[in-house]
Amino acid sequence: MPLTLYWLQCGGCGGDTMSLLNLDSPDLVETLGLLGIGILWHPSLSRESAAEHRRLQEDLASGARPLDFLVVEGAVIRGPGGTGMFDTQERRPKKELVAALARRARFVLAAGTCASFGGISAAGDIEATGLQFLRDRKGGFLGSGFTSLEGLPVINLPGCPCHCEALAGTLAALAAGEALELDEWNSPMDWYGMQVHQGCLRNEYHEYRVEDDDFGKRGCLFFHLGCQGPLTHGPCNKLLWGRRSSKTRIGAPCVGCTRPDFPPPYPFFQTRNIAGIPLDLPEGVDRAHYMAYKGMAAAAAPKRLIDRKTRI
Ligand code: SF4
Repeated sequence: MPLTLYWLQCGGCGGDTMSLLNLDSPDLVETLGLLGIGILWHPSLSRESAAEHRRLQEDLASGARPLDFLVVEGAVIRGPGGTGMFDTQERRPKKELVAALARRARFVLAAGTCASFGGISAAGDIEATGLQFLRDRKGGFLGSGFTSLEGLPVINLPGCPCHCEALAGTLAALAAGEALELDEWNSPMDWYGMQVHQGCLRNEYHEYRVEDDDFGKRGCLFFHLGCQGPLTHGPCNKLLWGRRSSKTRIGAPCVGCTRPDFPPPYPFFQTRNIAGIPLDLPEGVDRAHYMAYKGMAAAAAPKRLIDRKTRI
């Protein structure tokens, strides 16, 4: 019998679905076949009538049908006034459905930053929250003590959107019965234990503080354009988008979309600094040493980097 997956879209833009549909080599259909996962319902893939869908939800919520994977995309919307009536399905607050299905699922996955931490949805006034975090505070909608039937917390797969291969890889690991090592944000270390900075092709520019102050150029984007790569955990630059690209590869800074505090309350494309030294330094770096090291590194930058000769 195939493993079952139910995909619930809550308060978000649908970007995680778009990302999922871009899965290739193997594509989504082949991946699910290989993993032995059958989709019970996905808003972009299912054809059941409203009545059949309602029956399915009732069967899942009552436990009459087993549920292996509950994947939630988008934040849980609790407004107005805690009623959840800003986001309903058949006049029922979707937050009730989230709670009912989460109780019955072997694994609960939060696809994207809104479902994980609230994300852009929580930046508004709709009382949105992530499933088990609200930004960097544990708790969220299901509460900090929540565990799914397999004894795991909500597995957070942040990203705006979540990288399709992080989602597919996590499903593959869980379907195979592998134990996932989770970080402090309940994200699998295999995909979130690295920084966006790692794997960026501009690393040598960063090393020698060869910087650029406009989009699409070739230097590092950290010192003027607000690149969050050295502060952000996520697989971009190692798992490319469309197998081809990433923000920093096209000359746009990483905006830190996997971070619990995304979106930040300051402009994306400016580096906040004190006397030319970025306020937010690469994770784990000591300010005094960084200032000394970067000053020397900039003075020692090789001409081939300063000239930015390469076209790619
Ligand atoms: S552009 Fe961003 S990710 Fe790339 S090297 Fe510079 S700081 Fe790191």
